[in-house]
Amino acid sequence: MDQRDIEGDLEKVLLTEEQIQIRLKELAADVERDYADREVLLVGVLKGAIMVMSDFSRSLSRHASMDWMAVSSYGKGTKSSGVVRILKDLDQDITGRHVLIIEDIVDSGLTLSWLVANLMSRGAASVEVLVLLRKPDAAQVDVSVKYVGFDIPNEFVVGYGLDYAERYRNLRVIGTLAPHVYS
Ligand code: 5GP
Repeated sequence: MDQRDIEGDLEKVLLTEEQIQIRLKELAADVERDYADREVLLVGVLKGAIMVMSDFSRSLSRHASMDWMAVSSYGKGTKSSGVVRILKDLDQDITGRHVLIIEDIVDSGLTLSWLVANLMSRGAASVEVLVLLRKPDAAQVDVSVKYVGFDIPNEFVVGYGLDYAERYRNLRVIGTLAPHVYS
């Protein structure tokens, strides 16, 4: 779905398809360098990270296994509940594995700090985080995000995996919604 397919729904486009792809390739180069002598297990956080996982993993020019978790976050609204619940767990044991969490966005950081602690407690050899988008509040929480695609303003964004009430995930660009969409 393109911006023109949902005419009027977007207030503005923050990131184009091309900008996202270029940045993901840069991040893939960083990850390849950092994991030169270790095989990485990519853990995607459903559902928002599907597009990031898909494009980032294909930008890697080496083996990387994949697994998925689903955790609750915002429900249908636009504010974090602060309560993290596992809706779908990993399929495999991660003891001794080098885990790289692939996430769409970090806002309050609640979800990620919980996830990092949870995966470390399972005996992973290392747990790092890659996020496509980081909001300003994330700087105030104690979660170390090693790879960041873009720092964005404190606005609710949709597209490229990110939804509003389960819509807009299949939008190619990332943008903010026009006020009429919320009402
Ligand atoms: P945090 O726990 O860091 O506050 O929130 C993380 C989760 O909240 C993300 O994985 C994402 O699902 C959701 N989220 C945070 N900000 C946004 C946003 O601007 N747009 C959308 N669609 N989801 C967001």
